Amino acid sequence: MALLADAPHREDGSLTSPSATEELAFEAVLEWATAAMQLATDPATGSEGARKGDPFDIVTPADGLIERFLRTQVRDRFPGHGFLGEEEGGTSGSDGWQWIVDPIDGTLNYSTGLAGATCSIACLRHGQPVVGAIADLSAGVVYRARAGTGTVLASSAGEESGCEPTTSPAGAARVFLEFGWEDLDPVMVGTIGELARTRPRVIRMVGGAAYALLNVALHGGCMLGIGLRIWDVAAGVVLAREAGRAVRLWEEGTLVHLVVGSAEDLTELAPIVERFGSRRVAPAVA
Ligand SMILES: [Mg+2]
Repeated sequence: MALLADAPHREDGSLTSPSATEELAFEAVLEWATAAMQLATDPATGSEGARKGDPFDIVTPADGLIERFLRTQVRDRFPGHGFLGEEEGGTSGSDGWQWIVDPIDGTLNYSTGLAGATCSIACLRHGQPVVGAIADLSAGVVYRARAGTGTVLASSAGEESGCEPTTSPAGAARVFLEFGWEDLDPVMVGTIGELARTRPRVIRMVGGAAYALLNVALHGGCMLGIGLRIWDVAAGVVLAREAGRAVRLWEEGTLVHLVVGSAEDLTELAPIVERFGSRRVAPAVA
């Protein structure tokens, strides 16, 4: 597996240099994430799930509607930028800029009335996420961050304020586990077994990688992700880094594995990711 982000993301000076495009992108994501949240919570949109892959891999009318909305916005506002969405794929663009979108992360949660569903929007520059926004669909809050600022902003009902990331003992005890599939399998069980051999932890599996990353960013603890896709994590990685959390991310084909948390978390959990990241067994039900 190739290790992509072992070094601090600011090692490349271009990532932190002022950029008018980044500033525009940072403004746009607030507007777009707010609109996406409104679409997702509009009863007329439709949150009923239909099967996409395995029996637990579902899609709703809101997923497609929000992705098409965001694709149109990017095309109109940033012509030439690439766009990749979970539902309809995309292109890499021609000038080093790419938007990566998960219209709804945690669709099963969304479709069944559970918290932990988000809209995730990231802007990448030369392959590195530089702007991220996550809309918490249940809470009605948009969180956004821009690389190099050390700030996460929260916006709700037209009011925006800076977040104060915390790490309480209870927050630090949590490890969020996120897998790129829903059906319980030996990789999940094996990962949990390995965790039992590290320091005592509280496991949380919320079924939404972006939601987990957001919560680690704001309240501490760590996240271990295996077999995810880049749209699950691109925005959350920006928020986590700007909240002061460490990130290690591996890319394996089209899959992404990552660990986010404290430096100690990375040391403890990276071997587990490396051990189980390549062991994903195909689901029993196609
Ligand atoms: Mg999704």
